[in-house]
Order: sequence, then structure tokens, then C-alpha cells
Amino acid sequence: MTTYNKPLPQPNADDEFFWRGCKKHKFLFQKCLDCGLIRWPPSFLCPQCWSGNTTIIEASGKGKVYTYAVYHLAYHEGFKSDLPYVTAIIELEEGPHFLSNITECNPGDVKCDMPVEIVWDDITAEFSLPKFKPVRVTT
Ligand SMILES: [Zn+2]
Repeated sequence: MTTYNKPLPQPNADDEFFWRGCKKHKFLFQKCLDCGLIRWPPSFLCPQCWSGNTTIIEASGKGKVYTYAVYHLAYHEGFKSDLPYVTAIIELEEGPHFLSNITECNPGDVKCDMPVEIVWDDITAEFSLPKFKPVRVTT
């Protein structure tokens, strides 16, 4: 296993549950018990109705590309060997817009509205990152 040389998540009191879930390959989000909003990023209060009544749900890991950018320049040494790579905002089936990478795909083939699904990247003993790959349609 090679040394991971990219920035690591820095969990805080709000998103610690999220990163613990990722480590178990569970994609967890807060859901407001009063208005039903499934929110991202995690927060103490619902940004829609200010309720603090919250439960945790496991998202399907399915969604579509809302928008994306292909990086041809590394702004951090750790990303140099990945160039070119795709950073995308994924519109999840449950609603939240989630920033991640598109993998297992030629950067030139990424398109808006393209269906994607989660794939876990186990980067260290403590962290797994949720990334996304195209949904292969079999006919
Ligand atoms: Zn709410």
C-alpha cells in the first residue's frame, strides 16, 4: 500500500457521523424529522425550518452529474499523478448536491445528467472517500 499524500478529511462534531459511516461504506445523511429535508453539509439545525429534530438515513449512492470540471493542473502535489481528473457535483437521488470525483471513466466522456453510482476509495486505515462512476447500462 502506498502512502496517501493528499489532504485528509478533518471531521468535526457535525460531520463525524458521516466519516464514520464512510469507513463502513455507508453513505449517511441527516434528515429533518419536521420538514423531511435531507441535508448536506451536516448541520446542527435544519437550514430549511430551523428544527433540531434529526435522524440519519443511508443514501442509495445513486445520482447524476449536476456539473463538473476536468482538472488539467494540480493545485496540490498529491493530485499530479491523477491528471487529468474530474471533480463533479453529484445530484443524489435523495436530493443533496455532493462534491466528489468521477472515476472509472475517461474525463472526456463525462456529461451533465449522466447517471452515476457510488464507489468507495479506501484511502487510509481511518478514511474511505465516496467517489462516483458511470452507471453502465446493459441492454
Ligand atoms: Zn426541516
